[in-house]
Amino acid sequence: MSAPIDWRQRAAALTLNGQAFVGGRYVPSRSGETFECINPATGQVLVAVAACDQADVDHAVAVARAAFVSGVWSRMAPRERKKRLKAFADLIARHTEELALLETLDMGKPIRDSLAVDLPLSAQCIDWYAEAIDKIYDEIAPTPPTAISLIRREPLGVVAAVVPWNFPLLMAAWKLGPILAAGNSVILKPAEQSSLTAIRLGALASEAGIPDGVFNVLPGFGETAGRALGLHMDVDAVAFTGSTEVGKYFLQYSGQSNMKRVGLECGGKSPNIILADAPDLDEAATAAAWGIFYNQGEVCNAGSRLIVEASVKDRIVEKVIEVGSAIKVGDPLDAATEMGAMVDARQTERVMGYIEKGLAEGATLRLGGKRVAAPGCFIETTLFDDVTNDMTIAREEIFGPVLATIAARDIDDAIRIGNDTTYGLAAAVWTRDINKAFKASSALRAGVVWVNCFDHGDISSPFGGFKQSGFGRDKSLHALEKYTELKATWIHLGK
Ligand code: NAD
Repeated sequence: MSAPIDWRQRAAALTLNGQAFVGGRYVPSRSGETFECINPATGQVLVAVAACDQADVDHAVAVARAAFVSGVWSRMAPRERKKRLKAFADLIARHTEELALLETLDMGKPIRDSLAVDLPLSAQCIDWYAEAIDKIYDEIAPTPPTAISLIRREPLGVVAAVVPWNFPLLMAAWKLGPILAAGNSVILKPAEQSSLTAIRLGALASEAGIPDGVFNVLPGFGETAGRALGLHMDVDAVAFTGSTEVGKYFLQYSGQSNMKRVGLECGGKSPNIILADAPDLDEAATAAAWGIFYNQGEVCNAGSRLIVEASVKDRIVEKVIEVGSAIKVGDPLDAATEMGAMVDARQTERVMGYIEKGLAEGATLRLGGKRVAAPGCFIETTLFDDVTNDMTIAREEIFGPVLATIAARDIDDAIRIGNDTTYGLAAAVWTRDINKAFKASSALRAGVVWVNCFDHGDISSPFGGFKQSGFGRDKSLHALEKYTELKATWIHLGK
């Protein structure tokens, strides 16, 4: 038997790069300013990262625009674009270990998840759009015979992708796949908490044959680099994933500048509804536990509100506690760790504040609730029972391993509670009755409704929100709609 891999040793051997990537090469920020990239599991500074601002944005937009106008990518035959994007996907897959380590060091998720989930899904996403792009046909309208109307989708131009820190590489891939496949130039702005994998992608894109200037990466803060992209007069669209609060800023930036297209994938407070006739109550409870504790609860579609039919609530709570208390919390570089560090000290404090609020508002703490005694940012798996939907922990997105359990009288009550939220990203219902399943999936106002499972999906199935969870869809061919304009060319044929 071969010896287990020592991920700490491999991480120590990595070369870390904190520079921006513009026009096909790595560059410092124009001001020379940097900020510290900190490992949340240890508090150690990993590397200085370029703090890009307005001047870097102006430069990168000009470079991206020039690449777009030149046609080097935007007018490349789809089959050739496909070849290079497939090479990009392949390089990501071949660098799985390095990228997974960067992700784990940077934002604290367990190495086993980076390796088994983030990396394969990111490579697969780019590959899927590469495969799709030379198989999509445009349309001809059914006009009178005196004319032909060609309806074509054209790339937008320069697209800014502004992404969060919870799945840094995967959220970037959901944007990059369709943006690049459609022929746009892109500027990727990672969250300031998690720049490293985005930066590493620059060199891999270049190596794959994506022309200089087509793919650029600007690390930096939201209020500077993010805002400058949002307000830029020559950025055609912003593809945003992040909080609802910041999503609203991007709508304002658009209105204050050039009416750029905005796609928003924002927050959630997803209801996970377990009815008494669920096919398997233990399976439902186990999925409910992982639906909140996976990725430290830092998941936009986390099942943070567990709504259970009253007659089975206590049984479900006991099982969630059993599963949740067995989850191994600790060093993200330990291959056995199942829940790692919160992304940073600020997020840790924020989550702890919600736990205090839950107690103050009268919810019953049944599991966890404390920081784990370690130098880094760790929080126990936490479950509140006896929550009512008006409590803060049921209304606001906590983005941590904190589950709020709410009792419902019956399916109608469960749907009413489920929809009583400003969000609408995802929902789930567990029942063996097909009529109840369909009733709930129709009535729940959410972009994805899972029946008898939680957080399942595939790149072919769209993902995105209703209500204040945003609009526009990531994944599937629908994502291409966000990054293309529809053009009708009317050709008069005479009599
Ligand atoms: P965030 O909104 O704080 O930041 C997201 C991005 O916006 C970052 O790159 C950040 O630098 C930038 N930003 C921040 N302030 C800005 C400003 N004033 N102007 C311009 N840009 C700004 O979100 P986060 O904390 O990184 O991520 C967590 C949030 O992301 C959660 O709300 C979560 O639900 C959401 N999320 C949604 C999805 C989805 O698909 N719907 C997926 C993952 C995460």
